[in-house]
Amino acid sequence: MLMRKAREELVEYGLRMYRDGLVTMTSGNISIYNPATGTMAITPSGIPYDLMKVEDIVIMTLDGEILEGTCKPSSEHSLHAAAYRVRPEARAVVHTHSKYATVMSTLGESVKAVQFVFANILNCSEIPVAPYRTYGTEALAEVVSEALKNSPACLMANHGMVASGTTLENAYMAATIVESTAEIQWRAECVGKPSCLTEAEVHETYEAFTKTYGQK
Ligand SMILES: [Zn+2]
Repeated sequence: MLMRKAREELVEYGLRMYRDGLVTMTSGNISIYNPATGTMAITPSGIPYDLMKVEDIVIMTLDGEILEGTCKPSSEHSLHAAAYRVRPEARAVVHTHSKYATVMSTLGESVKAVQFVFANILNCSEIPVAPYRTYGTEALAEVVSEALKNSPACLMANHGMVASGTTLENAYMAATIVESTAEIQWRAECVGKPSCLTEAEVHETYEAFTKTYGQK
């Protein structure tokens, strides 16, 4: 079986994503990429996360050729492939329809560094919004790819969000932080105009986090 460990991780994180409320029903999708073999392991289309098995994961190339798997891959496989092409350091991609990120996407408003945790994890001032395109199309993959050029994650207008990372754990953390920050920003905007960290504060916070946080 190709990419067995990646398949196991995808099943585990898919369930986590569902239980954490980042997706509903069978929406969203996640993948892991191995640049050495040029292969991507991706969740299948339309299979509930709590029923998903390792054999349901599809192994394919970034060009869309299926190498192993009996299920149809996620309809957003082109979007995942585009993310790996534009962010060469990425080894995992998480796409969700999480509530507050989607709310901000409908407003066409980027998620900003309104709280320090955003800076800790994402080390940038804002997560941009890619314009609306029909789901599962090359056109959507193209606009997302453009938005990911200078950002590890982006919102997808009237759709959801996508986050990349050097591991699945990192991509998942990025997706979680975009969602929690979107909620803080939205709640703050309900009563006023939230302040944001400056570029310098973002970088200083990120430096402090990488040097001092945790059991080091
Ligand atoms: Zn979607």
